[in-house]
Amino acid sequence: MKLTDLTLTTPYLSLDPIFYQEVHPTPLKNPTLVSYNPDAFRLLKLSSDQPDTKAIEALLNGTLTLRGSRPYAMCYAGHQFGYFVPRLGDGRAINLGSVHGWNLQLKGSGQTLYSRQGDGRAVLRSSIREYLMSEAMHALNIPTSRALALITSEEKVARERWERGAVVLRLAPSWIRFGSFEYFFHSKRHKELETLADFLLRESFPHLLEKEEPYREMFAEIVKRTATLMAQWQSVGFSHGVMNTDNMSAIGITIDYGPFAFMDTFESGYICNHTDTHGRYSYDNQPSIGLWNLERLALALSPLIREEKLKNELEKYSTYFTSHLMERLRAKLGLDTPQESDSDLFRSLFNVMEHGYIDMTPFFRAISRYGDDRESLLTLSLAPNQLNEWLDRYDERLKTNISSTEDRHKEMLRTNPKYILKNHILQEAIDAAEKGDFTIVNTLLQLAQTPYEEHPEWERYSSPTPNEYKNLKLSCSS
Ligand code: AMP
Ligand code: MG
Repeated sequence: MKLTDLTLTTPYLSLDPIFYQEVHPTPLKNPTLVSYNPDAFRLLKLSSDQPDTKAIEALLNGTLTLRGSRPYAMCYAGHQFGYFVPRLGDGRAINLGSVHGWNLQLKGSGQTLYSRQGDGRAVLRSSIREYLMSEAMHALNIPTSRALALITSEEKVARERWERGAVVLRLAPSWIRFGSFEYFFHSKRHKELETLADFLLRESFPHLLEKEEPYREMFAEIVKRTATLMAQWQSVGFSHGVMNTDNMSAIGITIDYGPFAFMDTFESGYICNHTDTHGRYSYDNQPSIGLWNLERLALALSPLIREEKLKNELEKYSTYFTSHLMERLRAKLGLDTPQESDSDLFRSLFNVMEHGYIDMTPFFRAISRYGDDRESLLTLSLAPNQLNEWLDRYDERLKTNISSTEDRHKEMLRTNPKYILKNHILQEAIDAAEKGDFTIVNTLLQLAQTPYEEHPEWERYSSPTPNEYKNLKLSCSS
């Protein structure tokens, strides 16, 4: 099936207009296709060979309207850096409709009712980052929005400097956020709050519709998914950067990629967002912020679920988080059965990594082949003695493993990626793309989608990050 044959539906528009604004994208001048993602074409059950690139361009630019599509922007609120903002909404995103369980959304496609002072645009730099990183996260087995394609244009957008405008077409099973509920709760529209909860149940939790307490069960699932997501982020060293409640997905997936980063050398207090002066969203704060955000959601849902039940569910957060993190870390270290002392083993490893300025990704990749030769691991640390001592403990722990060394290596190589899109790598693609060369973007898309495979021709993208680029901070303006 071809892109132009798709028929979309717009169930969100069956809600009262207070939930959205119907608004058309504002096209950019002379759009050019930067990249399309064959995997996402398959998600929409479209043929991915030889797609009609002009149609992709036109769809992203808002000049092609698919059958059934009625574009709209969604209204929501949110806590930004701890402070409540009563009305936000899709200020630069426009939803096209949904098909096969995916809601199609353009980001950067012009102003809406919710744009406030913004121009409704996105720059090429941040659009490349979102396009590639959402696919990388998916390949790492972390729930996330996806991306179908990316266009840019000669039309310039004003940020700290003039930059090329761009549009990403992103996909998610739901774009409802914690902040969507906060909007109706704080404006005291409890009837609409209930309508939104019913909508989300039908859209994303249909298995709970027949339960005795569907709202409570849905909240329980959101708590669990969010805790799990935080454990997943932590385990790969991902910092989101702007964990405001309007950027928290109600279905527990990673959304709204901004100044995110994968950690280079392990640093527990790492802050990737330049504007986050107090480190509210630092790497080690992410799990507790996940809970803080869920508390805001709980408050917003309080007209629908009794307070004590909400509290009960929130109390499970830390158990879900810890048990999932332990599971992930055990897999990263190839430990096939749990042991009480594991949390201490992991804690001391993170200490060793921090003291030895160890680059997380190459380290876990190298340890995936560890037998008895420690040299290749020790060279990754500036405090090799500490690492050596830790490896003594690890050796002891491995003796309790059931699987063979060979099987352990195989599993670990499927768990610890060789390729992670660190910021300096993304920057290479951005620099070339800004000059009109999109080859690196497309190379990185392939790398992002196959992070566990060896790609000898792209070996350099797996090296430890050069010193001058380590753990930099990124600007939020995008
Ligand atoms: P963010 O933290 O990037 O997800 O954005 C927070 C809010 O600001 C959301 O409501 C966005 O839609 C809105 N926003 C961000 N950038 C722009 C822009 N350039 N134009 C209009 N709205 C924007
Ligand atoms: Mg956002």
